[in-house]
Amino acid sequence: PQTTAHPEQWPAAKSPSSLTDARTEAFITQLMSKMSVEEKVGQTIQGDIASMTPADLATYPLGSILAGGNSAPDGNDRATPKAWTDLVDAYRKEALAKRPGRTPIPLMFGIDAVHGHNNIVGATIFPHNVGLGAMRDPALIERIGQATGEEVAVVGGDWTFGPTVAVPRDDRWGRSYEGYGEDPEIVASYSGPMTLGLQGRLEAGKPIAPGRIAGSAKHFLADGGTQDGRDQGNAVISEQELVAVHAQGYPPSIDAGILTVMASFSSWNGQKITGNKTLITDVLKGRMGFEGFVVSDWNAHGQLQGCSNVSCPQAMNAGLDMYMAPDSWKGLYENTVRQVKSGEIPMARLDDAVRRILRVKVKTGLFDRVAPQVQGRFDRLGSADHRAIAREAVSKSLVLLKNDGVLPIKAGANVLVAGDADDIGKAAGGWTLTWQGTGNKNSDFPNGQSIWRGLKEAVEAAGGKATLARDGKFAGAKPDVAIVVFGEDPYAEFQGDVANLAYQPNGKTDLELLRKLKAQGIPVVAVFLSGRPLWVNPEINASDAFVAAWLPGSEGGGVADVLVAGKDGKSRRDFTGKLSFSWPKRADQGPLNRGQQGYDPQFAYGYGLSYAKPAKVGALSESAGELGTASSVDRYFVAGRVPAPWMLSFSGAGAVKTIDAGAQENGRQATWSGEGEGLLAVQGPPVDLSRQTTGDMAVLVRWRVDKAPVAPVYLTVGCGESCGGRLDVTSTLSGLKIG
Ligand code: BGC
Repeated sequence: PQTTAHPEQWPAAKSPSSLTDARTEAFITQLMSKMSVEEKVGQTIQGDIASMTPADLATYPLGSILAGGNSAPDGNDRATPKAWTDLVDAYRKEALAKRPGRTPIPLMFGIDAVHGHNNIVGATIFPHNVGLGAMRDPALIERIGQATGEEVAVVGGDWTFGPTVAVPRDDRWGRSYEGYGEDPEIVASYSGPMTLGLQGRLEAGKPIAPGRIAGSAKHFLADGGTQDGRDQGNAVISEQELVAVHAQGYPPSIDAGILTVMASFSSWNGQKITGNKTLITDVLKGRMGFEGFVVSDWNAHGQLQGCSNVSCPQAMNAGLDMYMAPDSWKGLYENTVRQVKSGEIPMARLDDAVRRILRVKVKTGLFDRVAPQVQGRFDRLGSADHRAIAREAVSKSLVLLKNDGVLPIKAGANVLVAGDADDIGKAAGGWTLTWQGTGNKNSDFPNGQSIWRGLKEAVEAAGGKATLARDGKFAGAKPDVAIVVFGEDPYAEFQGDVANLAYQPNGKTDLELLRKLKAQGIPVVAVFLSGRPLWVNPEINASDAFVAAWLPGSEGGGVADVLVAGKDGKSRRDFTGKLSFSWPKRADQGPLNRGQQGYDPQFAYGYGLSYAKPAKVGALSESAGELGTASSVDRYFVAGRVPAPWMLSFSGAGAVKTIDAGAQENGRQATWSGEGEGLLAVQGPPVDLSRQTTGDMAVLVRWRVDKAPVAPVYLTVGCGESCGGRLDVTSTLSGLKIG
């Protein structure tokens, strides 16, 4: 259904930084007069380093390339800074090579540097946005943006897919941690400074300064407003809410001169945003005055009705300027050329898209410098000044939920540190070296410091003793205090969607550990790592102090700066962090946002104790709530190549109500669904998955029950007759705790 919007009701940027000036526009006009349809279409398509070689540019004049979540030079996530730089250079060189009949145009290289340059070993890893929101410090946000931009630029990058200006309204969303807060106010106060930090302040007729990069405000629009917090889902909300909540981050970013905007995978009232002309053209480019270009999300155009990954004139006609077509760029290029030639895509629309892209390239300085001038300054990766900014952010992001007087840790104390304190990868979360952020070791962060290392340094500096014991077992004297670090393991995007807000300890025994230490009479400080507020009342009750530390990144020392007193016994830094997401009272609370009717949080938006303002937190209710009606998400990974067509079947007794399933190839693919009782089977999508792939395939299954399953529900992934039967993946659906 086509939704009608009323652009006049939308917030306009106050004084959009003009990206245009007469000289630049004349330069672009001149350039475009020499370009063929093929060259113009090429500009509007972005390939991925995993499926496009520099040599391909000789035949296909694409305008941009990305290194998406799963791609790295030669597939090596831990590639050296030099390897990254050489890779980018190889593409740049090909794009600019002189060829008969071709106008050389510099290539734009995009990457997700969403909490520092999280793709590079040795980079500074800043806290994820959920933690930054708790700081309420726009000036620090700008410094983080600048440091991030510089670390991207030194390895040859010129464009990051950030800032994320999502307003996550349901914390079951696996991307909640990419948002600054549940309230648009905080997002709107950060989006401008982050844009300025990345890009610098734009000046008419001048490109951004060396060491600055182009940003991309994402994901336009309502990515954080989907039903049940489903990633890439459907936001069923009024236009008023869309305006009042989800749109608020964009005008300040446009005021600050944001050069690109990424369209969202999600839908608004059933219509995919990527194909929504009213929102992209009338609202964003019209009302909000955005003069840069709009890029789609990963093959998002392929999800539009009537489209595929290799053909989607609807998206460009709706106002999309660049297709992110990581693996389907070739077919898409050929089809789009045809669609322009046949008039299906008006020439004027293509010209507008190309003009916007070239304008951004001029502004990014790509025509002036073949390689960004700071390129090769690898000493800037994880430099002392950048790490100091990150450490400051970590200490300002901590929110003290409870303190029965055990904090700060006294000078000279004998401190036992338990749990995951010595795991930088866990503290860094998703979007770190790998897409999901899994598999990282401390050695992957050669410039970083774990929370444990930071604590040890601070405790010893104050004349005390610190011992690390993951399981909390100690020998010798009973410690004066124990610090237990625990929480969510890394995840990214839909793989982090959950059914309810109960903390899932993944088979670990954090609660037992807390209780065991307390039973021995040891005061316990809990440091909770998570990408969102979760229901942890039993864990809070089992601790004497409870600190929400979010996903702090590589500078764990920031935790000790607040927790551990100095030699003189005085705290060195007080807690200043305040919740930017409401903390749930029960696990079955879905959307829980300040200002909502019936708002009933455990800790309200804005809550946060300090040494200066202590407060008593009594015993909290340990009833999780009604979890039986929740939906659940389960994930299965199939290594290797799976021939098409896929088939998924479910069997179970009576309990399963609806099923959505999706085969995710390297993270993204079609989804499909079924409904009914009892035996449900869902057939694979009619898309061609036969393309060679070396990556793992993930099967995502979301399911919903109305009552507790009476028998286990089984999932089978198969490939039907075509590959002679099923694959050896049969799994019991799990993960749903019935209240
Ligand atoms: C994500 C975007 C990201 C893009 C490129 C998508 O799956 O939704 O946020 O920028 O991948 O890696």
